[in-house]
Amino acid sequence: MNDTIVAISTKLGEGAISIIRVSGPESINIVNKLFKGKDLTKVTSHTINYGFINDGIKDIDEVLVSIMRAPKTFTREDIVEVNCHGGIAPTLKILELINQAGARLAEPGEFTKRAFLNGRIDLTQAEAVMDIIQSKTDANRSLALSSLEGNLKNYITTFRDKLKYLLANIEVNIDYPEYYDIEEITLEDIKKTITDLKVDLQDLITRSVERLIVKNGIKTIIIGRPNVGKSSILNTFLKEDKAIVTNIEGTTRDLVEGEIIFDGIELSLIDTAGIRETDNIVEKIGVEKSLSLIDNADLIIVVLNSSEELTDNDKFILDKVKDRNPIIVLNKNDLKAKLHKEDFTFDHIVSTNTNSFTGIDSLKQEIKKMFNLDEIKEQDYTYLANNRQLLLAKQAKKNLEEAEKSLLADTPVDIIEIDLRAVFDTLGEITGENYSDELLDELFKDFCVGK
Ligand code: GDP
Repeated sequence: MNDTIVAISTKLGEGAISIIRVSGPESINIVNKLFKGKDLTKVTSHTINYGFINDGIKDIDEVLVSIMRAPKTFTREDIVEVNCHGGIAPTLKILELINQAGARLAEPGEFTKRAFLNGRIDLTQAEAVMDIIQSKTDANRSLALSSLEGNLKNYITTFRDKLKYLLANIEVNIDYPEYYDIEEITLEDIKKTITDLKVDLQDLITRSVERLIVKNGIKTIIIGRPNVGKSSILNTFLKEDKAIVTNIEGTTRDLVEGEIIFDGIELSLIDTAGIRETDNIVEKIGVEKSLSLIDNADLIIVVLNSSEELTDNDKFILDKVKDRNPIIVLNKNDLKAKLHKEDFTFDHIVSTNTNSFTGIDSLKQEIKKMFNLDEIKEQDYTYLANNRQLLLAKQAKKNLEEAEKSLLADTPVDIIEIDLRAVFDTLGEITGENYSDELLDELFKDFCVGK
């Protein structure tokens, strides 16, 4: 890792500026060889220097060069950033010259990898860098920033410190039971700490699962009989500036007729016309397909026509989703009502009229409330950011449960210690306290070159 690397850090194309980034012990010397302006080896750190990149015969481009000396840099190595005009030719030429002058072309994510290996950030922060770059909604940006700022890292570190303290106490008691002056730790103390930690970890897992749904897009289906107003509701969502149309299938009555993304919520439409109990094999396959979409949805919105009595089809659907915490929409509330909120026992019921947009805001608020969407922006909660972290946290919780079980079964305390040590190590994998080269390769391969 002692060599010097170079990459284009901006998107290659026509733009105002491009940035070519160099990191490593030789970065200042290498760029200085090509720079016409001040002697870069003598300028103060964290300065921007005006001049030209010159290939030894002629000027290539007019540039601004940032000099940032270790250790106060992203990689904790000397970093030089060349800001040139944002065209393909000058950018590639400068990259080529810096490469020829002695810097190796960087691999994807190698700058961030170095930041991790040099202790500038932990793995949760490295993953957050990628999440910020890839975030398409404000909620995701906000979650990623929280991790980048070290909230998750601090949470895990504090958690591990508590375990370390407990382990140290257990060890002292095992090794030197005869020492009177050592504060004796009772089984009750151990049990209480383990239970507290388990509750804490379960809390983190639960709220993170919810966050991951939001991060990946809340898969929402709007279901109901034909003509109750599903498309009209979807269209009112579409009128929002922020809604992005990803796939509108048109007028055919396909299973999924439309899909939009709204503030992190992915909405799809399903008509329940075909969803009913049947013995017909072909029809059965169609019904099962629709039902599996319902099974896989994160959120179900059932639309009913409030000006008509419930039909058997409505009842069949309501029964299918009754345990899925659906939102019931009583649409067409401008007409004489045959259905009322009081007729239902569901927790989330809104009344709408898509002709005048009444109630649509309440529907959005209901969705936001169910997934705490506003809370993400307002509160500084800590969340696990991906499946890798979630699986490790679940594993750690399992180990804690093992320890708790052993404790209740009067297992010798040194066996319990083994389980607790496993919790400590597993959580360390989340932050990258212990890691394998394979894991790093896997993590950084999806990064862009230059990050
Ligand atoms: P879908 O088949 O469930 O997607 O239903 P549509 O959205 O196509 O609506 C069916 C019909 O109901 C259309 O003629 C709409 O104009 C009408 N409609 C939709 N929402 C309302 C509403 O809130 N009030 C009234 N009066 N008519 C509505």
